[in-house]
Amino acid sequence: MAQKKFMLSEEDIPTRWYNIVADMPNKPLPPLHPGTKQPIRPEMLAPLFPMELIKQEVSTEKWIDIPDEVREVYKIWRPTPLYRAHGLEKLLDTPARIYYKYEGVSPAGSHKPNTAVPQVYYNKQEGIRRITTETGAGQWGSALSFACQLFGIECEVYMVRASYDGKPYRKIMMNTWGASVYPSPSDRTAAGRKILAQDPGSPGSLGIAISEAVELAFQSEDTRYALGSVLNHVLMHQTVIGLEAVWQLEQAGDFPDIVVAPFGGGSNFAGICFPFLRYNLEEGKSIRCIAAEPASCPKLTRGVFRYDLGDTVGMTPLLPMYTLGHNFIPAPIHAGGLRYHGAGAIVSQLLKDGLIEAQAFKQLECFEAGIRFAQTEGIIPAPEATHAIATVIREAERAREEGTAKTILFNLCGHGHFDMGAYEQYLSGKLVEHEVTQEEILESLAELDTPTIP
Ligand SMILES: *Cc1c(COP(=O)(O)O)cnc(C)c1O
Repeated sequence: MAQKKFMLSEEDIPTRWYNIVADMPNKPLPPLHPGTKQPIRPEMLAPLFPMELIKQEVSTEKWIDIPDEVREVYKIWRPTPLYRAHGLEKLLDTPARIYYKYEGVSPAGSHKPNTAVPQVYYNKQEGIRRITTETGAGQWGSALSFACQLFGIECEVYMVRASYDGKPYRKIMMNTWGASVYPSPSDRTAAGRKILAQDPGSPGSLGIAISEAVELAFQSEDTRYALGSVLNHVLMHQTVIGLEAVWQLEQAGDFPDIVVAPFGGGSNFAGICFPFLRYNLEEGKSIRCIAAEPASCPKLTRGVFRYDLGDTVGMTPLLPMYTLGHNFIPAPIHAGGLRYHGAGAIVSQLLKDGLIEAQAFKQLECFEAGIRFAQTEGIIPAPEATHAIATVIREAERAREEGTAKTILFNLCGHGHFDMGAYEQYLSGKLVEHEVTQEEILESLAELDTPTIP
């Protein structure tokens, strides 16, 4: 029986994060002030983030040390295992070798604690007492609640109303880790009250919840805000995934031709891909890095590259991003973590420069891929992760047709244990197919009055 699982020991947890900005041929464009439309100075972010994270956000240093206290917490679940997908390969009858890095072993069940822990740590170092955030389906809110509890910081989570009502288990997880969770829009903020005045029954959105959390951080001296994706420092924290995978594939005597990850704002994609992309940028290798996004929220494949806001009300800086427009409300697909209108500045620049690729998938193909994976490999993937699996299956089938023995690596970014409702719908044939129309995209983009990028 061929080897299946590649493990590292605690001493092998990376000691530094990889900052791809140092190696990018074109650096990401600067964020702009939403009012003046001028580049913002790093100090202007101080009401929102601790200084150390702001430094990381604008850093061009290639390697940033991971604090010992953070590595200690990482030891709870890191290093994470890398598996060879012998079962899936056999089912697909492909000459491709398929590997996956499993991030679902973290306490919150996804890759998100990789950044929640350092973010909370730096806030604690700077004497912050409370952190506010938003959450959609609850993955980020639960990761941050876990990290806040460990470091003794208060955590206040604004959870999109539709998920708060429809998916109570993630909320209870957050409560278990001591966080306060409020349905958004709430009457606790001016942003929330404004939305409720227009629509008392508003189901909420990620953009509205961000506005609420940001408003509260701006208002108090001892409170900061935390974001679970998109920003440069968040992407960098996730590179522990790919750095470990490089060593694990070395153990396996292999090296990838293709690296795949699902794409929401870009953090787990960056996490697994950037340490491999480094070989393309430094050594001229030609690994294909593919971002897998949903056809109902296709910012990378059908959005535009321009400045846009991160939230609905307009309190965040303008970021250079592939976007569908900050008022775009994606259909309620089950991959809640992929329902964000924009992509991070770094990933957007890399896509513009042709250094990474993107593909969009409809949810039926994704769930079918997820079931095939669960039945051959055992692990039930998060709906987000099934987008990567669908990509891998297409590439593995292509390898079979072409008769080429490609090596494919993907990020299994989380388990799907809280998504049984979605699996039930798929299995009973009730899951609806969805793809956004060109009219809907054009309508949303037509509302944008933010600066364009030549
Ligand atoms: C949040 C989340 C995503 C999407 O966010 P990225 O920043 O693009 O990684 C994907 N999968 C899971 C399981 C998530 O929790």
